[in-house]
Amino acid sequence: MMATSYTPAVIGGGSMSDINGLDHMGRPSDAVFGEEIGESCGVFGVFGPDLDVARLTYFGLFALQHRGQESAGIAVSDGAGVTVYKDLGLVAQVFDEQRLAGLDGHLAIGHNRYSTTGSGSWENAQPSYRAIGDRTIALSHNGNLSNTSALAEQLGVLQETLSDSELMTEAIGRELDGTDWERALARVLPTFEGAFSLTIMDNDHLIGVRDPLGFRPLVLGRVDGGMVLSSETCGLDIIGADFIREIAPGEVIIIDEDGVRSIHPFTNVKQRTCVFEFVYFSRPDSTMSGQSIHAARRRMGERLAVEHPADVDVVVPVPESGIPAAQGFAAAARVPYVDGLVKNRYIGRTFISPTQQMRDQGVRMKLNPITQELEGKRVVLVDDSIVRGSTTRQLISMVKKAGANEVHLRISSPPYQWPCFYGMDTGRREELIASRMTVDEIADFLEVDSLGYLSLDGLLAATAIDPNRFCTACLSGDYPTAISVSR
Ligand code: AMP
Repeated sequence: MMATSYTPAVIGGGSMSDINGLDHMGRPSDAVFGEEIGESCGVFGVFGPDLDVARLTYFGLFALQHRGQESAGIAVSDGAGVTVYKDLGLVAQVFDEQRLAGLDGHLAIGHNRYSTTGSGSWENAQPSYRAIGDRTIALSHNGNLSNTSALAEQLGVLQETLSDSELMTEAIGRELDGTDWERALARVLPTFEGAFSLTIMDNDHLIGVRDPLGFRPLVLGRVDGGMVLSSETCGLDIIGADFIREIAPGEVIIIDEDGVRSIHPFTNVKQRTCVFEFVYFSRPDSTMSGQSIHAARRRMGERLAVEHPADVDVVVPVPESGIPAAQGFAAAARVPYVDGLVKNRYIGRTFISPTQQMRDQGVRMKLNPITQELEGKRVVLVDDSIVRGSTTRQLISMVKKAGANEVHLRISSPPYQWPCFYGMDTGRREELIASRMTVDEIADFLEVDSLGYLSLDGLLAATAIDPNRFCTACLSGDYPTAISVSR
């Protein structure tokens, strides 16, 4: 596998700008769906000389689609060069058979993006890439750096011109020039602060990195003689890979034709995994630190029923994020569990622009009530979280219009009061409803008959993991790193 000089062929996409809430292709942008909340991204990687690595990466990204729907991309190396293809849209919109057939090689990385830092433009789609001498590196990032200004200054570039992921690619590329991966990463990675689960590659190495606090997940698996990296275990399951283990916080895994090596370049390692991975982000069929996400969410619902009981006829989940907690609530409260809302699962970022009248219906684009299940009933509605409160308010009004006599809202996490700087772009503090209002005020605003949030202790206990291993900043204000941004 010789690395020869090669410029990455980047096919597809074009720059997109925001004009009156529509991008240049007339698709609705964030401005139209102003209530959209940024979320974590998905990263993936495969090393396997005898495998169809681009196809495996496609399916890995397909399983990780819930972590980001704004753009998708794959970088693949055949040893001689690296090819990157990325574009705005869902994985199945960006790639087809023909595109995948053009991505031939023995190692690949992939990325699903939901914008955090930077606008939702094509330029910010990942993998980001850079040519260094006779090789090209590509990088996929899940998380958010908290020291981008310092990093940009150190590199002598304007911060506004590069996303945090591009800054990392640039910094790694410069360090790698003339040396090997072990040495370069040991020097450059400790200069990054914040959240970064990365898959990186060059012509013949696949690398996995997890920041020393392990904010975002990253797992290692094995498939048909090849090695796999994935944000979540569901990305391994879909391609029939065996789970080996989680990448430890602060660990770097280097995979090449000589095998798999692990290095630990950080001095202060202390696990602080995002508790919201358990509440909302991760897919329920994934496992984390040996715990099933689905089972943990059920336990959250069971605890919620004990902490905030409700005298009702039916328990209704807000699909899909509220389903396991609603199941747990119903079982613990011995109240029938009913599907009272149906979610359209096929909404991506790039569907046809709705009319103004449809936009005013807001949440109906995503959720529709089953009137027969709600009419004349006292309902407890269970969801995982309230961030800004706008979707929830519309939803409550819809459930009432469908004929529910009483609506009691139960949330399987504590009030979300503090902005996240580690990969979840939930907006500024004043945009978070629980930072401005008490629980009673929120109940009034939402026009519910009662409102109950799960306690932080209840949430942590439901995960069945040592509570000291979590970042709970969004719920407690206890940030595990120094934050230079005003909040
Ligand atoms: P809202 O009432 O507008 O705050 O929206 C609440 C809904 O947002 C709940 O159904 C949550 O499951 C969902 N949610 C929570 N966190 C996020 C996130 N980071 N991105 C997108 N949706 C989220």
